[in-house]
Amino acid sequence: MGRPNGAPDLILIINAKESDPNLACDVRLVLERPEELISGIEIMARALDVEEVTFATRTEEGELLQFEKLLKERGINIAHIRPSYSVGSERLLVRELLGREVPADQFPPDVGVVVHNVATCLATAEAVVKGKPLISRGITFYSRETGGRNLWVRMGTPVEHILNYMGISSESVDRVVLGSIMMGKGTNDLRTPLLKCFTGLVALAFDEHAPFDNPYPCIRCGFCDAICPVDIYPSLLLEALEKGKTEALDNLNFDSCIDCNLCSYVCLSSIRVNPKQRAG
Ligand code: SF4
Ligand code: SF4
Repeated sequence: MGRPNGAPDLILIINAKESDPNLACDVRLVLERPEELISGIEIMARALDVEEVTFATRTEEGELLQFEKLLKERGINIAHIRPSYSVGSERLLVRELLGREVPADQFPPDVGVVVHNVATCLATAEAVVKGKPLISRGITFYSRETGGRNLWVRMGTPVEHILNYMGISSESVDRVVLGSIMMGKGTNDLRTPLLKCFTGLVALAFDEHAPFDNPYPCIRCGFCDAICPVDIYPSLLLEALEKGKTEALDNLNFDSCIDCNLCSYVCLSSIRVNPKQRAG
């Protein structure tokens, strides 16, 4: 296997950055399954025929001592990245590590970079070495009662079974967030099954209020514009969407939004500012 003759050099980034504040399952994976992860990285690097591999983590040097040693032995770079949300997103990770911009209408391979999550390395090793399909994954569960816990869960497990396992009564849960607290999707259907794309699960009680239920008018403070990691203007996008001026969206770089929710998080008026969510 390999790339066609004349294809540009590729760099493989293994993303263990896990910048979302409620997630820690990737770090757990590195601590518990280091040899299998290395095997998965080597299989990927060979299949993609890459020039170099960089393992990106939010941990500090020495925190993953055994794993760092294995990476060094194999000539794999390790990048300790500042632990700030949302640098884990693919486009921002490529910019942070390599200084390359990925245009909104392109993907990392278009600029010579392949980004894979660390959990994909384990799945690759299990599939290639053991012939085992992806039937379970690590997630980080969080609730006020239990705090954060890493769990290993079979695909298709209904949310209510996970709640029961954690000793939480379904009746006490108002809604859950599937995925990270910043970017996950909320639902009150506790029969929803766990899918391979869900890295976390947050259970919220009835007295944990929904943040955007009672918004105030925009006061043009500009906080949302200042925080946006892709340097677009969410306040102007909000205005355009509210006034139905959809022809203005292209000029305001709507497609560059990475759906990180930081603009909604910092809004003093509790407005759901995120343009991707407002546009539906
Ligand atoms: S969700 Fe908001 S802060 Fe995040 S990229 Fe989109 S506009 Fe910017
Ligand atoms: S943060 Fe909220 S109030 Fe401030 S400019 Fe943005 S939308 Fe308006």
